[in-house]
Amino acid sequence: MKIAVIGSGIGGLATACRLASKGYDVTVFEKNTTPGGKISEIHMNGYRFDAGPSLFTLPELVEELYAAAGEKVPSTFIYKKLEVLCKYFYNSGENLIAWSDQKKFTEECVQKLGEDPDNITKYFKSASLIYKITADIFLFNSLHKVKNLLKFSVLKSLFQVFKIRFYKTMHGDNSSNFKSPLLVQLFDRYATYNGSSPFKAPATLNVIAHLENNLGAYFPEKGMYAIVENIYELALKKGVQFNFNSLVTSIDIKNKKAVGLSVGGKNHAFDKIVSDSDINYVVNHLMDHPKKKQIKRLEPSSSALVFYWGINKEFPELDLHNILFSSDYKEEFNNLFDKKTIDADPTVYIFVSSKMVKSDAPTNCENWFVMVNAPSNSKENWDDLIQTTKQNIINKINKSLKTNIEDYIVQEKIASPITIEQNTLSKGGALYGNSSNSMFSAFLRHPNFLKSVKNLYFVGGSVHPGGGIPLCLASAKIVDNEIPAV
Ligand SMILES: Cc1cc2nc3c(=O)[nH]c(=O)nc-3n(C[C@H](O)[C@H](O)[C@H](O)COP(=O)(O)OP(=O)(O)OC[C@H]3O[C@@H](n4cnc5c(N)ncnc54)[C@H](O)[C@@H]3O)c2cc1C
Repeated sequence: MKIAVIGSGIGGLATACRLASKGYDVTVFEKNTTPGGKISEIHMNGYRFDAGPSLFTLPELVEELYAAAGEKVPSTFIYKKLEVLCKYFYNSGENLIAWSDQKKFTEECVQKLGEDPDNITKYFKSASLIYKITADIFLFNSLHKVKNLLKFSVLKSLFQVFKIRFYKTMHGDNSSNFKSPLLVQLFDRYATYNGSSPFKAPATLNVIAHLENNLGAYFPEKGMYAIVENIYELALKKGVQFNFNSLVTSIDIKNKKAVGLSVGGKNHAFDKIVSDSDINYVVNHLMDHPKKKQIKRLEPSSSALVFYWGINKEFPELDLHNILFSSDYKEEFNNLFDKKTIDADPTVYIFVSSKMVKSDAPTNCENWFVMVNAPSNSKENWDDLIQTTKQNIINKINKSLKTNIEDYIVQEKIASPITIEQNTLSKGGALYGNSSNSMFSAFLRHPNFLKSVKNLYFVGGSVHPGGGIPLCLASAKIVDNEIPAV
């Protein structure tokens, strides 16, 4: 039984490992020269950068993947729980450390922001409850199988459905929970973890704060790309074959069954096909999809503008993850999703992996991944927007860190929605598939299989349950459950 996987993003790699371990003959077709898709790395004159994700949550899903493949996580693949989740810098001059220790974090919020400690405890409890109610229905099972919806645990959760506050926005919920507007902004930011706006996304997404604050944020000792390197090794060990530089141009369907695919003008026959390609690319280029129009209407998640800067100085005031917040978050998201541009005072994220992985930068230097949220590409004037935004970012960093950062930038590379789209084929360079800017988003996300075409499955960030490393790993598990062992 031969299975083809289109794309070697984390979802594709994880599915390939699972299916090969079940006895299938698995072949991956990847248009790029290396595996990983959005999880990639850049080497520049002594600096190494994780080019995509920087935050690693739910590592147990990686452990579960190894277990499903009948293997142990290699002793060389080590990830550490972070003590500091993020350092926050506000325009008004306040700084806040988000400690993973909730007692320490609460003290920090009480001392620096005058927050009521009970509000913080209440918030984390409520985020944990949302996870309990939703995880089984929305994350770890197909939403598109009646038998899943009839499970006792799911029915029990449905009785508590009002507790997940899908009828309120994240911002509305957070504003009614916290006294300090600075803390509202801090917790609103979790909407960006799946490329959405806190002013539109349902309060159910406060569940994201549970993953980071209650369960923990992690970082691999060798950087984020180590996740891909290890899972790729696992796939090779399980006998998966990889064809790089291989763009799949069509999924061949006969008598309502997927029977193969085409690469470079050649047809290849397969018994089953799993696509890790963005669903928009699938419906636009690979097959005649019955719901093409509906899929194309869905709003993509945000994209990103990233500056990878080699810095020839060390900044002890920064940690691994740092945020320099904007003054007007509402206007920032209004610009992002409605006006499709980048605010003049954007929230700036600075990720410095060399704080943990010393070899990522030369001695006394740092590797800065400086990112702002950007609209998915819809033909903006990116050359102008990149130059203006770069200057705005530099001004903001200089003001917050009291420096002249342009004097220390010795290397630069830029990723924009255009380059992200070119590299990964995601619509407009969207980072997380479709946005969750509506209470129906979870239900509108594409299923992991089609009732109208047999032997065809879908994984990755653009389909159920959504974007981000943990959810892509969850999608692989769902597809694995759909395909019986040989
Ligand atoms: C800058 C950035 C920051 C991010 N930050 C985080 C973070 O901190 N934490 C987090 O969890 N997530 C983060 N994400 C999101 C996360 O990276 C993605 O959700 C996840 O990696 C997507 O995996 P995927 O399985 O959907 O595949 P993708 O990564 O989208 O890869 C798909 C692969 O399929 C290939 N492909 C597509 N179509 C074809 C075809 N027709 N033929 C051959 N090959 C094809 C592409 O070349 C690509 O390699 C970030 C992403 C980016 C870009």
